[in-house]
Amino acid sequence: MIGSMVKRSPLAREFWENGRAASCPIYDMHGHMGSYHSIYFPRGEAPDMIRTMDEAGVRLLLFSHHAALNSPDLGNRLSVEAVRRFPSRLRAYCVINPNYPERVAQDLATFDSLYPDVYVGLKFLSDYHAIALTDDRYRPAWEHADARGLLVLAHTWGGSVYDGEEVVARVAERYPRVKFLLGHSCHGAWGAAVALAQAFSNIYLELTAVFDDRGAIEKLAAEAGSDRLLFGTDLPWFDPHHAIGVLMNAAISDEDRHNICHRNAERLLGTLLPTLVPARP
Ligand SMILES: [Zn+2]
Repeated sequence: MIGSMVKRSPLAREFWENGRAASCPIYDMHGHMGSYHSIYFPRGEAPDMIRTMDEAGVRLLLFSHHAALNSPDLGNRLSVEAVRRFPSRLRAYCVINPNYPERVAQDLATFDSLYPDVYVGLKFLSDYHAIALTDDRYRPAWEHADARGLLVLAHTWGGSVYDGEEVVARVAERYPRVKFLLGHSCHGAWGAAVALAQAFSNIYLELTAVFDDRGAIEKLAAEAGSDRLLFGTDLPWFDPHHAIGVLMNAAISDEDRHNICHRNAERLLGTLLPTLVPARP
């Protein structure tokens, strides 16, 4: 099975032979960083994560540090420090934790001074923070992102009252200028994810953890279109080698694979790209 797919796909063959492909840089649109309770990450800090990225040909990682998600006393500071240390390989999402409105106000007030050298957009984790994306406490952040046409990466889980498909539809309609990345693509509710991508031109389906379900990539590519899918891994939770292996074995075309790995990301990052990734000699 693997053998026949590799034979049909020059791109897959290149990944299998070299571990990466020069013609297909990868933009990982969904990462984290740092230690986390109840799990050990062998490569969880920035230098080790970049080592993993190098092995798999991942050019750029957009991430949010675990401290930004779970330690409001530290907030986004560790994300900012990591980007400043590795500015050619990392950009951060500014995490919004609406349980702390004063912190949100501070994060939004300093956002412009850190964009795009540090931040590329905002990150919402509403199922962890237990506040729905439609809640008023998110409103200042949505309005900030909508006014600037920013990327917003939100975790989305099929059926969730915080960030399931019905909630997503309401905010996508309300904030049409946001480039809305559905983290995990409403995991499990693939039909709903397709319907959202078809209904809203500002919605993109981010593939972290989608790789665990056989047939999901093919369905999303065929029905939502590969021009609406984005590569993501949750690094260091999942490994890009696994995601790439699934993509190269999926019954989709090499054109689809190029869209997912880099073309869509390059289009979304647009004019930011030259400031993000210096040209290689
Ligand atoms: Zn995440």
